[in-house]
Amino acid sequence: GLFAMPIDATLPYDDQNVFARILRGEIPSKTVYEDDFALAFHDIAPQAPVHVLVIPKGPYVSWDDFSARAPEALIAGFVRAVGKVARDLGLVEPGYRLLANVGNHGGQEVPHLHVHLFGGAPLGPMLA
Ligand code: ADP
Repeated sequence: GLFAMPIDATLPYDDQNVFARILRGEIPSKTVYEDDFALAFHDIAPQAPVHVLVIPKGPYVSWDDFSARAPEALIAGFVRAVGKVARDLGLVEPGYRLLANVGNHGGQEVPHLHVHLFGGAPLGPMLA
């Protein structure tokens, strides 16, 4: 969150970050969805009735890194996965919110790209 310790999103990828460890199965998570491109799991400190994180399967620090470097197939697969998770959770109607924090001013804490998916109730002006 904005009140914790954000990261420098220009750093090289750290394969010991918590989401890298979740992807390798070294740390448990509550899986919502998984395919060749993405893993979705429940946030450990939910800020809405539904708070899921969707991460790409690959060493990408941030949205900046991913959008610049990732192969097109992974970008497409990841975007499809985010949409599918929201549909599968029944969030399209009445709606939901996506958010990706990037770097210091964004308040990004975990240096592996993650898209927050919030829903399940009317949302306030800002989350995460
Ligand atoms: P912010 O908290 O500003 O959104 P990030 O965008 O880096 O910072 O988000 C990190 C998110 O990861 C937080 O919502 C936090 O609760 C969540 N999180 C941290 N560790 C775990 C974990 N082991 N399993 C699930 N979610 C986690």
